[in-house]
Amino acid sequence: MPDSAPIIEARGLTRAFGGFIAVKNVNLKVRGGTIHALIGPNGAGKSTLFNLLTKFLSPSGGSIFFKGRDVTHMAPADIALLGLVRSFQISSVFPHLSAHENVRVALQARECETFAFWKSNRTLRRLNDEASNLLESVGLADRSQTRASELSYGRKRALELATTLALDPEVLLLDEPMAGMGTEDIGRTANLIRSVGNGRTILMVEHNLGVVADLSDAITVLRRGEIIAEGTYAEVSADSEVRKAYLGG
Ligand code: ADP
Ligand code: MG
Repeated sequence: MPDSAPIIEARGLTRAFGGFIAVKNVNLKVRGGTIHALIGPNGAGKSTLFNLLTKFLSPSGGSIFFKGRDVTHMAPADIALLGLVRSFQISSVFPHLSAHENVRVALQARECETFAFWKSNRTLRRLNDEASNLLESVGLADRSQTRASELSYGRKRALELATTLALDPEVLLLDEPMAGMGTEDIGRTANLIRSVGNGRTILMVEHNLGVVADLSDAITVLRRGEIIAEGTYAEVSADSEVRKAYLGG
């Protein structure tokens, strides 16, 4: 694992829903350039923790640092601009647009910050080429003109990843990227995550432990809102608390 400073750090992060504490005093460090997996039984607080890190939910306590900067009170859109982008567990592509149009919209959203809304022909050509390259990198080159609503489930997820990559994030949060996929799509998505992870930081929630073992540099295990183990796959899978948690403990 690269010995770099943490790019994301949570300190004492806590979130209550009424009297129920879904995330409890979590101290998490995600190192730059690593693929870091967050695992744990259903209801452990993984999605809540993701929502806190991207500020889709406000913490009840604790703080969040991104690249050493305290972002605890920052708005989600501003955090995204700093380079922390998440993709959602529920697919978020525009169903009536083609795969190519979906990626183009995301590319244009990124460039709105720096360019006038009206684009020159040269810029439009470059955006078109960039959209095609992104579609190719996620294995959708032959589906570029297909409406998103007509894509298979696995390909829809691949398109979702392409639209997320279009934002050129430095850190990518993936909530169950393989959920609902068949073996073939899982293999292709794992390869994709590996290549996307080259030069970026990825924090992912994933249930498929084979994929987690294969891809992750570091793993954090949550149970009932608390971290019960951290380390490599070999380390956490040998941990007796983790074994108990996965047997329903
Ligand atoms: P995971 O993603 O690990 O399956 P979640 O973070 O979705 O777990 O949920 C953790 C716990 O918090 C669950 O018991 C869930 O019912 C509860 N929870 C999540 N979101 C809310 C909410 N908006 N209101 C009340 N309880 C919630
Ligand atoms: Mg979840």
